[in-house]
Amino acid sequence: MANEVHNLLLGLDRGEIIELVTRSGEPAYRAQQLLDGIYRQRLQSLAEISTLPVTFRKKLAEAGFSCGLPQIQKKFSSADGTIRFLVEFADGQTVETVWMPEGDGGEEGDGSEVEDISQGRRTRDWDRATICVSSQVGCAVDCQFCLTAQLGVKRNLTAGEIAGQVCAVLREQGVTPPEDRINLVFMGMGEPFLNYGNFMKAVRLLVEEVGIAESRMTVSTAGIVPRIHDFGLEAIRPKLAISLNAPNDEVRGRVMPLNRKWNLDRLIGAAREFPLRHREKLTFEYVLLRDVNDAAEHAREVAELLRGLRAKVNLIALNPGPRIDFQTPAQDRVAAFQEILIKSGIPAFVRRPRGRDIYAACGQLKRTIEITKEP
Ligand code: SAH
Repeated sequence: MANEVHNLLLGLDRGEIIELVTRSGEPAYRAQQLLDGIYRQRLQSLAEISTLPVTFRKKLAEAGFSCGLPQIQKKFSSADGTIRFLVEFADGQTVETVWMPEGDGGEEGDGSEVEDISQGRRTRDWDRATICVSSQVGCAVDCQFCLTAQLGVKRNLTAGEIAGQVCAVLREQGVTPPEDRINLVFMGMGEPFLNYGNFMKAVRLLVEEVGIAESRMTVSTAGIVPRIHDFGLEAIRPKLAISLNAPNDEVRGRVMPLNRKWNLDRLIGAAREFPLRHREKLTFEYVLLRDVNDAAEHAREVAELLRGLRAKVNLIALNPGPRIDFQTPAQDRVAAFQEILIKSGIPAFVRRPRGRDIYAACGQLKRTIEITKEP
């Protein structure tokens, strides 16, 4: 158990909790109480798990156990309702987790969120929300347009730290799935498929213990081809998004160095073999970089590349940032690109940037603390 170093309960699955309870000589039903305290009530300390007898709580504390809910260290609020949380773990490392009321206008990508809002029962200023979750401290993939890349990778997050971001934000926002409609996108800092085991364990905890349906989750990969194959074999899994970002190997190799290891032939091959579920679609994200990958010719190449795939494309105009040597394309270029894809029979959506003013949008997560002006 990776968590045993810190003795954090958050991150342990049902089997591990049962083992702990049994080892402590407690009756088996205590396991459910412990799981509820950690994952459903999202309590911050053992003392708060009042369903457990004091003696058992004491025993756990003496063995060095704590709940393990990460701390929200800072909070940045955008004019558009997005909130970026700086989340701190037991060893002092931090990542960012983003709260987006009404989703990000793109993770469904089929316009359904628009309907949802009009039909939804409105009891507050949001009807559904999406939490964007990090999987690593920093990132090793080195995409040239992404600010997280500038951090390098510090370490993998544990399963408890990945699921814990969600628990900490749910607690902070005072919401409870499934009554509150919460979507998850694993699109924060890091490459989930380079931390595959911990990421998948976190998914199972979030589905089985926190109560968020897998159909409400999407994971995005920069294109770690062997893991795309493994992911397809999982019994419980989120939907899959692939960061395409270029129409051919020449451009993709320049903006995403990992393309030299897993080129488009292999990436699209893995996508074609991916076992989709009933009515499920693959998502391809495409960051538009002015005069690099945003020409009409490029859109036609993308259409050719994706021909026959059950897929949609989410277009993201570059979110700018310091030391990023690319520009955001003009809006009409984005619209023209979208139109070519649609006319070729590929559903394509333009993602609305969320929280750009607080460095919370795609590719902007680099733990910015001081916000002096709009990026
Ligand atoms: N590492 C995974 C998960 C992160 S998802 C992946 O790459 O898929 C983050 C998404 O934001 C990716 O699709 C990425 O291509 C996109 N992105 C990165 N930098 C960006 C930027 N500056 N502007 C807009 N989108 C960006």
